[in-house]
Amino acid sequence: MSSFNFDVVTLFPKAFELINNLGVITRALDKNLINVNLYDLREYGEGSYRQVDDKPYGGGAGMVLKPEPIYKAYESIRKSPKSQTLLMTPQGKVLKQKDLARWSTLDQIIIICGQYEGFDERIRCLADQEISMGDYVLSGGEIPAISIINGLTRLLPGTLGDPDSLVDESHNSSLLEYPQYTRPLTFKDMKVPDILVSGNHEEIKSWRKRKSFERTLKRRSDLISNEKYNQIPQSKRIIEESNKFMKFIIGKEYDIYPDW
Ligand code: SAH
Repeated sequence: MSSFNFDVVTLFPKAFELINNLGVITRALDKNLINVNLYDLREYGEGSYRQVDDKPYGGGAGMVLKPEPIYKAYESIRKSPKSQTLLMTPQGKVLKQKDLARWSTLDQIIIICGQYEGFDERIRCLADQEISMGDYVLSGGEIPAISIINGLTRLLPGTLGDPDSLVDESHNSSLLEYPQYTRPLTFKDMKVPDILVSGNHEEIKSWRKRKSFERTLKRRSDLISNEKYNQIPQSKRIIEESNKFMKFIIGKEYDIYPDW
């Protein structure tokens, strides 16, 4: 099986040492499931000072990454036909699990990391997609890039010990994951729900579905459907009359506990 390539253009390649200490991701590197190739922007800098940034035209605070070094670094990357180029920016589309799943079918992701006040506008056209980690501003694109490498790698076949662990987890479907427990049975007076030690797998499945719904409704009703959810005045009542309303909200049948 050929490896998945991550090619990253960055001014701080050392930041990526972190991925050598990230458990399953490190294992994927060791097993050659992924390669992480770093392109040090400084090496593509201009003049004897290897300049990579400059003051913004029109004035204003801080420095902006120049276009030439980024272009040079980008052009030195060998591109596969199944490749996408992502630009890290707080102005991009907020990253979702389904983006990672879609990219995991490719064999290369190229990531361009900004720094300082950002980058010259003319590098935007290198990107297939502009991606944001969320509505907050970081000092550079390295941590977002590492997040993408991490999140995508764990979806690749052979990375996780048990691929089934991907099935139920949060954001795989539109629901958050159900509560999880491990030993001991009682910890500081908090007891594991009886159902989980009942040995009744059907009931456990059903309980987990119910908890998934309940949790998503309480914490992230926007994941279910903002529009439809907002049409209903009292969300608490819906939970009580779950079967009927769940069908309305998510548009399909679900076998939910009758006592709910
Ligand atoms: N002045 C810029 C922000 C610069 S932050 C603006 O207002 O858009 C410096 C760099 O950090 C960015 O170029 C980007 O590569 C990275 N960065 C910061 N926040 C990010 C976020 N939420 N998602 C992805 N990248 C981010």
